[in-house]
Amino acid sequence: MIHQGCFVTGTDTDAGKTVFASALYRASLLSGRKTAVIKPVQTGVEDGIAPDVQSYQNAVCDITGKKTILALECFRVPCSPHFAAQLESRTIDIQKIVHQIRELQEQGYCVIVEGAGGLWVPLNGTDTILDLIRETALPVLLVFDNRVGCINQVMLSLRELQRQNIPIVGCVSNSVQKDSTGEEIRCNNIETILRLSGVPVLADIPFLANLNSDNSAARIDVWNAAADKLQSVWDKIDSMQSHRDEDIAELLRFDREHLWHPYTSAVEPQPVVPITSAKNCTLYTADGSELIDGMASWWCVIHGYNHPALNEAVRQQLDKTAHVMFGGITHRGAVELARKILALAPKNMDRVFFADSGSVSVEAAMKMPLQYQQAQGQAAKFRLMTLRGGYHGDTLGAMSVCDPVNGMHTLFQGVLPKQIFAEKPKIPFHGHFCSDTAQAEIEQLEHLFRKYASETAAFILEPVVQGAGGMWFYHPEYLKHIRRLCNEYDILLIADEIATGFGRTGKMFAVEWAEIQPDIMCIGKALSGGYMTLAAVLTSRKVAEGISADGGVFMHGPTFTANPLACAAANASLDLLESARWKNDIARIENRLKTGLEPCRNNANAADVRILGGIGVVEMRQPVNTRRLQEFFVAQGVWIRPFGRLIYLMPPYCVTDGQLAQLTGAVCAAVEKNCF
Ligand code: PMP
Repeated sequence: MIHQGCFVTGTDTDAGKTVFASALYRASLLSGRKTAVIKPVQTGVEDGIAPDVQSYQNAVCDITGKKTILALECFRVPCSPHFAAQLESRTIDIQKIVHQIRELQEQGYCVIVEGAGGLWVPLNGTDTILDLIRETALPVLLVFDNRVGCINQVMLSLRELQRQNIPIVGCVSNSVQKDSTGEEIRCNNIETILRLSGVPVLADIPFLANLNSDNSAARIDVWNAAADKLQSVWDKIDSMQSHRDEDIAELLRFDREHLWHPYTSAVEPQPVVPITSAKNCTLYTADGSELIDGMASWWCVIHGYNHPALNEAVRQQLDKTAHVMFGGITHRGAVELARKILALAPKNMDRVFFADSGSVSVEAAMKMPLQYQQAQGQAAKFRLMTLRGGYHGDTLGAMSVCDPVNGMHTLFQGVLPKQIFAEKPKIPFHGHFCSDTAQAEIEQLEHLFRKYASETAAFILEPVVQGAGGMWFYHPEYLKHIRRLCNEYDILLIADEIATGFGRTGKMFAVEWAEIQPDIMCIGKALSGGYMTLAAVLTSRKVAEGISADGGVFMHGPTFTANPLACAAANASLDLLESARWKNDIARIENRLKTGLEPCRNNANAADVRILGGIGVVEMRQPVNTRRLQEFFVAQGVWIRPFGRLIYLMPPYCVTDGQLAQLTGAVCAAVEKNCF
């Protein structure tokens, strides 16, 4: 169900929003529509009634019945809302505003929301009127003052609305200028606006002075004339909304019949949620509802969606070039990015090879040791060793080192290279390592190294956190032992930091928990802040020079390697990580996840609850019904996508404490209600 109503904004302050919105309210009540008006922010309120509320009341004073006209946040000083709020030591919370709009809509009201000033008017430290518009999911009417210079302002406002994919009902002009004889000066800008923007000017409303004091009988005639012009505006809003309904139904039909989603049947696809936009930690769905994102789009959106710094970086790069091949060519974005990556990575990392996805970087990282060992005259070392319970991607090479059971090796038997599997480490991240179990496991590892050293080129693992293979957090001490054994047996160590990299576990890279350095390291996912597909393989000088000895070249070259747009996003993302803020955020998230998920520990259906950094996991005893759980979570207003026996959270680092409480609350409710 699309939320009913419209958002009235202006090209700037005093464009005529209140005149128009009051006339629209009158038109609406006259046609029998159950309508409410919300003025989210009103400044210049001395005592008692807010001036705009009085204007609306005047415009409908002769119509009988209850009027619902609310000014939500009122401030004394008539200045920019964020400043007016600051003067009274208050902050404007746009979620609260949206909540009040939703409440009225749920009571069956069609809601007219009148903004404050223009689109970029700040409401608090981060949000503007544009953010409020997006969150209300209402179509917009743009009011402009029909005078010289207005086209510029109309065009800039419309461009921004169009750029942000916000539905526009149309423009409305309000004529104000009068010549020396008192005659109105009419600038005929209406056709020009339609020609330039494609957006129609739906009506021209006369300028009215003394809105909040004049409710004379003569004024009612003027209101009636204005309201008459606006009856068709509601028809347009209604038809836009029903078209949106049809559009979405058609989009979902085509999706169901012709698209193939990850890990999904083509004939019995699971339901999908259509998302129209996203901001910070919120996903906006096509039906106007909101979902708090608990997944960071599979680890990668660490700074939140629609981040201004990343947006700007991509936009600037777009005007230079979206892409250029990297064979025989270089560009500043790639060089700067490599410089930044090496500054963050373990000290021995020296070379950066850009790939275009995590799996491709794993493929490249698996080929490097083979070329390296061949160059050393050790061609017999061509296999890889890894841990059970791991996940490294879905391409064939990467799959061969995924857990043989979870990774469904049986489906691809005969094609997958036969790799060597060590047991999954048993001692958890926070457990005691000095135990008989640890001793036995290390001995097993030593045995495996002894047995297969002559045929093993490299050991690949996900440091500390085994992600898609089971969301298991193991003790960092294992890494130290594996590093030691790799050195002893001349086996290269590949750290797959695609999921763990860039702060997620509480360290910039998870190998830091064990203070070890790998020979090769894969990074991806959060590298571009989740903006574009980009990954990289880092190697030590020893590996790079080994492969390149005697004229050797590394045989890999993805078409989109070091794509400039992706590099621009990644550069901006790493700049944001330069401040220590992410560390505080991860510590904060970790604490909230611990307290928020704790109640699940007492539930008989839950096998384990574990938290590390920005990752919270509830492992159930039985596999969950992903479809039912997804539906339950969406109904709760959160986006959490469980798999296997795992319900887990890894939200963007900018998630607020309130949002974390909603996410963990939803997980606890799902476990409690047994909805799996
Ligand atoms: N390695 C790890 C540890 C991963 O978590 C993933 C993705 N889930 C990959 C590799 C594969 O990355 P991509 O999906 O970008 O190919």
